[in-house]
Amino acid sequence: MRIGIIGAGQLGQMLGLAARDLDLEVCFLDPSPAPPATCCGPVVQRPFDDPDALADMAALCDVITYEFENVPVAALQKIEHSVPIHPPTAALRHAQDRLDEKQLFEALGVPLPGYRTVDTRADLVAAATELGLPLVVKTRRLGYDGKGQFVVRTSDDVDAAWSALRGQTLIAEQWVGFDFEVSSIGVRDARGNVRIYPLTRNVHRNGILHTSRSPVDAPELVEIAAAATRKLLEHLDYVGVLALELFALGNKLLANEFAPRVHNSGHWTIEGAATSQFENHLRAVAGLALGSTASRGHAGMLNLIGEIPAAARELEVGTLHDYGKQPRPGRKLGHITVIAERAEQRDALLAIIEQTVTQSAPATGN
Ligand code: AMP
Repeated sequence: MRIGIIGAGQLGQMLGLAARDLDLEVCFLDPSPAPPATCCGPVVQRPFDDPDALADMAALCDVITYEFENVPVAALQKIEHSVPIHPPTAALRHAQDRLDEKQLFEALGVPLPGYRTVDTRADLVAAATELGLPLVVKTRRLGYDGKGQFVVRTSDDVDAAWSALRGQTLIAEQWVGFDFEVSSIGVRDARGNVRIYPLTRNVHRNGILHTSRSPVDAPELVEIAAAATRKLLEHLDYVGVLALELFALGNKLLANEFAPRVHNSGHWTIEGAATSQFENHLRAVAGLALGSTASRGHAGMLNLIGEIPAAARELEVGTLHDYGKQPRPGRKLGHITVIAERAEQRDALLAIIEQTVTQSAPATGN
């Protein structure tokens, strides 16, 4: 079976590596020269919405999937009648527009931070009055890793936020003084079987994921997150892996956003779960039986951003994944995973790794 993957970045690369073990063929569509997944299969170097390239892919592949959520939906809909596309384009549509996404959470009864749509400066002023400060203004479309966001802390920031983001469709959202952030990663197959990975606790720096730890010792939150993830998967008649990001506040969870794809906060599953998120995504889209999502211990993951320092290659603990990308400030270049029997051991290992990596790379763009 041949799987066409739209996007050939590091997520495509990790999908491609998992495909080898399942004896699945993969090919990719990506406009960038020599993207990370080049090592795993042929890459057609054309734009993501190139009609001819997509039509060729539809003809050559048994199923199409994608590794990033900004694939133009209209382009995919043109090939939908000739090849199965998993996850469904409806999931992409919701995930591409923060308003659509929030309305979906509301419709499913998944709690979320208060928000308002902002089309004018007056809307922003009204949102600040009604929701209170601080609030965060976000572009509805094409935001990721904290890009296209502006935090309004006092009424003096309104003008700066408005001039930074005006001209784009916006939402304003209550700033959540969360205890911590979590992500819930689930997978569903075409027969409707659902499996949820152990919950992951995440730390972001400057809007970019810094560390992930799993499992999370908070049974109540684990249950709420799993139920919300299952609702999304079932409502969307979803096939593949989905990641739901939430803010933990006391015994409540507020949904931030979901990604209709494999996710950075699930990289620990390569070494830390019985079946990785990449393998399970492929299993789901290829119509194979899902694998167990059980943990193999206490997992920790540290992202390597901006550069991979020499010390990261000499560590005696952890598993380094180097995506083979050119260094650039703020760019995700790789990650390191540790697995331990106990949470304290995992945290100690992660602290050593973080210290080693940070000391040898003071200017990683973090
Ligand atoms: P996003 O692109 O929406 O995932 O935002 C990136 C990161 O910014 C999140 O993971 C949070 O750390 C932070 N953030 C976003 N929205 C909020 C909010 N409403 N309250 C507090 N922190 C937020």
